[in-house]
Amino acid sequence: MAHQWRGVIREYADRLPVTEATKVITLGEGGTPLVHARQLSELTGSEVYLKVEGMNPTGSFKDRGMTMAMTAAVEAGAKAVVCASTGNTSASAAAYATAAGLKCAVLVPEGKISMGKLSQAIAHGATLLQVDGNFDNCLDIARKLGESYPVFLVNSVNPARIQGQKTGAFEIVDSLGDAPDIHVLPVGNAGNISAYWKGYKEYSAPFETANGTLPAVATKTPIMWGFQAAGAAPFVAGHPITEPDTIATAIRIGNPASWDTAVAARDESGGLIEAVTDDEILAAHRWLSAKEGVFVEPGSAAGVAGLIKKHAAGEVPSGKTIVITVTGHGLKDPQWALRTEDGSDVQPVKVPNDVVTVAAELGLEEK
Ligand SMILES: *Cc1c(COP(=O)(O)O)cnc(C)c1O
Repeated sequence: MAHQWRGVIREYADRLPVTEATKVITLGEGGTPLVHARQLSELTGSEVYLKVEGMNPTGSFKDRGMTMAMTAAVEAGAKAVVCASTGNTSASAAAYATAAGLKCAVLVPEGKISMGKLSQAIAHGATLLQVDGNFDNCLDIARKLGESYPVFLVNSVNPARIQGQKTGAFEIVDSLGDAPDIHVLPVGNAGNISAYWKGYKEYSAPFETANGTLPAVATKTPIMWGFQAAGAAPFVAGHPITEPDTIATAIRIGNPASWDTAVAARDESGGLIEAVTDDEILAAHRWLSAKEGVFVEPGSAAGVAGLIKKHAAGEVPSGKTIVITVTGHGLKDPQWALRTEDGSDVQPVKVPNDVVTVAAELGLEEK
């Protein structure tokens, strides 16, 4: 029977803090493809899948959390929401606030946000302020606004966001029939690694609900592998970084809000959080586009960069199932695709309006 995906809250209502009476704010998020990565599988000898989160309504996984956060905002009687953002949270908050009929204010770091994300926030009518500071400064201000002013904070420090984002783990288990052996993802503010770990844990044990106990769906939990950009790698340093720097703007964060839960995800799962350089991130970005057919933004490629790096070090087991979350769409930040490996820009070849010249340029000989 035909089935239209109803968004993560309705699909997983029995595992989320909602009731029948909850007025759900949704744009149909979740239900994203789990794509078999042929070339990464061949490279590693494991079955590697990509959870393609760029397919969410605003083009990133942030929508999974935002449906919950905006639903909670409406339930709380909020009239306005606020968030700090490296870009995707603002795009998502602006869209979901529009769906909820709420005002939305977003604080972004000056000059370090992609055009695609900026234009989404503007298109959806958010009030966008560029703060003279980095993401961590923006989040400080947003938290203080939420505490002392009549605005509802929708950053991932809001536990509703983590609740929504845990559904990514549910979908992966539902697709594969069990949890993968290893789950790989980029780490910035560290909400997502915390959310996936929460989701995997909840799916691998009986789950208490108001209406009774749900049985375990998965037989195990995966090992969590998180990757940060080398210039913004506080978990690798073991302390916050004051001047985070990377071309991967989505993970350009020096003082992650979900520090303790991310460390718990790493340690309880027997996993790791390591760093990849910007060059490794861009190489993985090219790998995904050119070899797998999946177009992501640079920050989203950090997990793939990590897997390739660990493979080169002989540290990726074969014969396992590995899932990598690729977090946001390539069209968010498309200029990186036009960069060649030597740093120059790709120029389209110009040809006259003439089939013979075009065929010659394509190296084709007449049949
Ligand atoms: C937000 C974001 C991240 C980082 O996720 P955290 O939960 O902050 O660790 C990675 N990639 C993209 C595309 C994002 O939008």
